[in-house]
Amino acid sequence: MNVNDSEKVAGLLEARGFEAVATPAEADFVFLNTCAVREKATVKFQQSLVRLGRMKRGRPELRIGVGGCVAQLEGEGLAARSPQVDVLVGTHNLRRIPELLELAESTGRMAVDLDRHADAFDVPDAVTAHANPVRAYVTAMEGCNLVCSFCVVPRTRGPEVNRPAEDIVAEVEAVVAQGYGEVMLLGQTVNAYRSRGRDFADLLALVDAVAGLRRLRFTTSHPSHVTERLARALRDLERVCPYLHLPVQSGSDRVLGSMRRGYTRAQYLETVALLREHVPHVALSSDVIVGYPGETPAEFDETLSLVESVGFDGLFSFSYSPRPGTTALRLDDDVAEQEKRRRLNVLNGHQQQWQRRRNEALVGRADDVLVETIDGPGRVSGRTPQFRIVHLDGPESLLGQVVNVEITGAGSNSLQGRVSQLTH
Ligand code: SAM
Repeated sequence: MNVNDSEKVAGLLEARGFEAVATPAEADFVFLNTCAVREKATVKFQQSLVRLGRMKRGRPELRIGVGGCVAQLEGEGLAARSPQVDVLVGTHNLRRIPELLELAESTGRMAVDLDRHADAFDVPDAVTAHANPVRAYVTAMEGCNLVCSFCVVPRTRGPEVNRPAEDIVAEVEAVVAQGYGEVMLLGQTVNAYRSRGRDFADLLALVDAVAGLRRLRFTTSHPSHVTERLARALRDLERVCPYLHLPVQSGSDRVLGSMRRGYTRAQYLETVALLREHVPHVALSSDVIVGYPGETPAEFDETLSLVESVGFDGLFSFSYSPRPGTTALRLDDDVAEQEKRRRLNVLNGHQQQWQRRRNEALVGRADDVLVETIDGPGRVSGRTPQFRIVHLDGPESLLGQVVNVEITGAGSNSLQGRVSQLTH
């Protein structure tokens, strides 16, 4: 979602005659698109802002913009302590960036728009400067109605707003016409999508029917909104890829309850079983938080055992980070940093080993790879329908093509392959 927001900002600026440069030192305008999910990201942002402030002292014509979740969260406070900033926008005001930049230029003062009630879908589709040559991100919904105790997102992005299916389909048709073979539908809880009597399975069916689309993905799914209809859509719709990112966060019922995730360990495992019953080859990835307030070693072991029993294709593990305005902030952040790190290492170690074993078992098999990256002269890479990365020998002209590949090697994070056939 952040990547897509940056693509929108880049496109809006390009439409005003700006062009992308490689480093801030070459830029007339630097826009920092911020993330507030963990403290680490906000610290990195503050450091970047200090560096840019220093750069601006030597080059006063440099303009600095800040947007995204930290801007929304810290608002006027950020404005007051960051005089180097020229443009400050919240999560719903990206469209106004060029206009605010002109305003800042003409007044010599910071131009601010933090109106969270503005229309978040008002950036014209055609403007987005897609960063990936093959995959276009398309927003299905914004915001989040959940109340997870640890998560700042509902405060920064506001409640759920669903985009009309007709608008989503029109954008997909447009990006496919521009040559993007793959679409990824975006939403904080994308599978909770509901608009004018249509649910997420209906939306997938509508988008799947767009002529010329090769692959359809979506992220992020919430376990409580995985239905049998969604499992059937994954099974039956030809372009929908068999891959779901399904954050579990913890394997302990006590922790899940305190997190207010809305499901138990058993219910999560039932959801996984439902998906695998309909789509046996479905790939699942997940997010896990370690060191949540009060998490005991035994509760962490329950997370490890859940991760072991599901066998995720990918796992993103995070140390719990207290965030402003969340209900978990009232709880004592009592797991020591060192212990959080130990738990992360245990999980990551297990996951890396599992991924290597799983990938090694794929050697000798064939799969379809949509080529999306040029790795170097004569080397390209792409992804299988299950979102697994495969590196190949092949010319640049394979970019955007689906090739049938024989898997010849495996590491824990990617596969090696040999082209057996150009599919299309
Ligand atoms: N709605 C999205 C979802 O469910 O995936 C939220 C995305 S959030 C940006 C990605 C992940 O960050 C979450 O799934 C969670 O594991 C992690 N996260 C969120 N808040 C956190 C916190 N306070 N501390 C540590 N990790 C956190």
